[in-house]
Amino acid sequence: MSKKVVIIGGVAGGASCAARLRRLEENAEIVLLERGPYISYANCGLPYHVGDVIKSRSALLLQTPEVMKERFKIDVRVKNEVLSIDREKKTVSVRRVETGETYEEAYDTLVISTGSSPVRPPIPGIDLPHIQSLWTVPDADEVRTLITEQKAASAVVVGGGFIGLEMAENLKHAGLTVSLVEMLDQVMAPLDYEMAQPLHENIRQNGVDLRLGDGVAAFRQNGELIDVELKSGKTLTAALVILAIGVRPNGELAKNAGLTVNARGGIVVDEYLRTSDPAIYAVGDVIEVTDFVFKDRTMIPLAGPANKQGRIAANNIAGASEAYKGSQGTSVVQVFDLTAASTGANERALIKRGMERGRDYETVTITQNSHAGYYPGAKPMTIKLLFSMDGKKIFGAQIVGREGVDKRIDTIAVTQRLGGGVAELSELELAYAPPFSSAKDPVNMAGFVARNVLGGLYAGIAPWNAPDTLENLQLLDVRESVEVMAFTVPNAVHIPLGQLRDRLGELDKSRETVVFCAIGVRAYNAARILVQNGFKRVYVYPGGARFYQATHYDKVETDVSAGAPVADSGQTADLGEPAASMRIDCSGMQCPGPIMKVFETMQTMKPGEVMEVSASDPGFARDIGAWCRRTGNTLLSNERQGDDYVALVRKGGVPKPAAEVHETPEGKTIIVFSGDLDKVLASFIIANGAAAMGRPVTMFFTFWGLTVLRRPEKVRVKKSFVEKMFGGMMPRGSGKLKLSRMNMAGMGTGMMKAIMKQKNVDSLDTLIEKAKKAGIKLVACTMSMDVMGIRPEELIDGVELGGVGAYLGDAEESNVNLFI
Ligand code: FAD
Repeated sequence: MSKKVVIIGGVAGGASCAARLRRLEENAEIVLLERGPYISYANCGLPYHVGDVIKSRSALLLQTPEVMKERFKIDVRVKNEVLSIDREKKTVSVRRVETGETYEEAYDTLVISTGSSPVRPPIPGIDLPHIQSLWTVPDADEVRTLITEQKAASAVVVGGGFIGLEMAENLKHAGLTVSLVEMLDQVMAPLDYEMAQPLHENIRQNGVDLRLGDGVAAFRQNGELIDVELKSGKTLTAALVILAIGVRPNGELAKNAGLTVNARGGIVVDEYLRTSDPAIYAVGDVIEVTDFVFKDRTMIPLAGPANKQGRIAANNIAGASEAYKGSQGTSVVQVFDLTAASTGANERALIKRGMERGRDYETVTITQNSHAGYYPGAKPMTIKLLFSMDGKKIFGAQIVGREGVDKRIDTIAVTQRLGGGVAELSELELAYAPPFSSAKDPVNMAGFVARNVLGGLYAGIAPWNAPDTLENLQLLDVRESVEVMAFTVPNAVHIPLGQLRDRLGELDKSRETVVFCAIGVRAYNAARILVQNGFKRVYVYPGGARFYQATHYDKVETDVSAGAPVADSGQTADLGEPAASMRIDCSGMQCPGPIMKVFETMQTMKPGEVMEVSASDPGFARDIGAWCRRTGNTLLSNERQGDDYVALVRKGGVPKPAAEVHETPEGKTIIVFSGDLDKVLASFIIANGAAAMGRPVTMFFTFWGLTVLRRPEKVRVKKSFVEKMFGGMMPRGSGKLKLSRMNMAGMGTGMMKAIMKQKNVDSLDTLIEKAKKAGIKLVACTMSMDVMGIRPEELIDGVELGGVGAYLGDAEESNVNLFI
């Protein structure tokens, strides 16, 4: 006698179970009951349909009830909701949604694949119109109607999980102004905080107003719009709200039928996916599964596991004894330009289980290119790998990057599933040709680095926030000077790798040392030099200065765009359409390649010439502005074109209008290096005198000379501890300067000021004001500002910022150049 199988839920788990069962059991009677209007639709594609990336609605409907009936001989009944299960009678009670009429359906075997539903917490106003979840095709239709017909122009997305992120991106893509509110301090909970930081930066760069660490207190109608009141007291106003706060399993049917469910309402199943009633199977979001890594129980609502479980349940109904071995939670999400992926446990989860780094697990974080750096288009990705102290078990991995992230997370997930450890990662033989990978694939590299750490070749990879949290840490930056020009790691001693062996004496062997390079490779070489020279605790900074910039993007100077041309003087200029006389293609070059190439090419160019440089490395876009400022060149534009970043750079500063250019040099340049009152007075007296004779004068303030330009009052700016100390020790403003000799605890300085007054000699403040009125250019050296930890906001008005290039440019047009 043929058996009758009734399946509740007709999408991922239910539809795969039905189709597989038909292939195995031609004579089984299969009834598929689905309360919604569609079966087997691509709910994962819904956000992309809202953003019009998937244009055709019908593309989402993978299977129609008619085809299921015709091709698979399955009795598909959409708009039929199961109300209850009678396990004694082996029947389900069903309601026809359109008519409200109910009927009983008998089964021999029942499969529950009722999925999950979006959480709607009892927030005041949550039932107002235009507050939507995105879960079904009708939900997507409704959001699209709001956008296309009702012209909704703004949206607040609540929740920074993968659906929230996909919706934020797609609503932005559809042209809306978007805010994203997330209660935690990070988006994408499967990632550790530092791995989520690059996403935060990218989300903001793409114009989404990201509110972290804030939740919704209430929704209120505001005319046609909705006010979203946040717990912080702020209010956002939008035409549309998307709720993507999380999901809960649809386990009520099972619970009411007396099946065992867990505290969250998830159905408890055995390894064969049988519930506590052997005639009832359950699959998908609604069940509790084995955590593949730790072998305890968890809930992981993802499409891949649901589909596989549907297939396994069908196999078992057809007589097999196939076990579901657990879920790893392998997932991937696109967030604007970035892809984020993870598998297994993250570090937060390990710590929550009471595990301790260095005792129970180790971690490495590396940055590698998606394919060979010399082949165009390589993009960096950062991999974080968590593994046991013997290296035999992979606890989890996370990857954030632009390309090739999916294939690397899958490779690690496969290794993890097959019981491999870090040695296996390093041994994997993976397909390689330049457009696809490197001879040592990033996954191999993660394995190599993990083995090096476990092998004690150096102390390990530093925590990403070690420079912020650990005191008495020695930071060593082994990048080349040209790279440091583009980004300076705060408080780091800079010794290029090539000079390290000769300059070891500049470092303190007794201190814990964290080494930086651009991505970590040179830092590892430096670490080995240090270790072999008696340095005991040497760590490599994870992912290098690049990753430091990404994880500290909200604290350190970044320069990602140049809307208007920025001269080294800090001024902007309308330069019309500058024609590039030189084009260099750095696309595919690994950091620091592009900046080095720009530097080398610049040497061959004449002042005023323009270079167009394209690079695929996103870090280049960040670095080029700062590099130009510090080297006295001018960034004319810096924009994304397709996959590349294209910058126009003019050698030197902004050219002066022809009328201002002097035929014979008659300018005067004065470098004010000293912060001594008498020397500074002398420099201003000379400068004002020269200006009075009609000569163009530039005063370039560097190192201690910068103190002259400081505002007397305290200015609130973010500084590191060391910068604060430095700033605290430096005099604040002209009034605090002291004589170079006979200061006599300030008495000499006081007497000098009194005598100057008596003899009608201008005070330093008056001289500075006169200099400004006379058009004397007061330039603060940006490089020294960086070194001394002085911010532009701390300087008096009328001061320009400039690099060495700015000064040299003026010096070339001078016939007197003084160093005071
Ligand atoms: P579902 O596919 O949700 O199917 C359950 C069905 O049961 C529903 O159609 C429901 O109407 C029906 N049902 C419930 N109760 C009854 C009842 N009493 N009677 C009759 N029918 C009932 N996962 C990924 O892995 N990757 C992604 O990129 C991804 N993106 C997603 C994007 C969105 C917008 C959404 C909503 C989900 C996404 N998911 C993604 C999650 C994935 O879709 C789910 O994990 C998967 O669909 C779960 O399958 P399931 O069979 O358990 O439940």
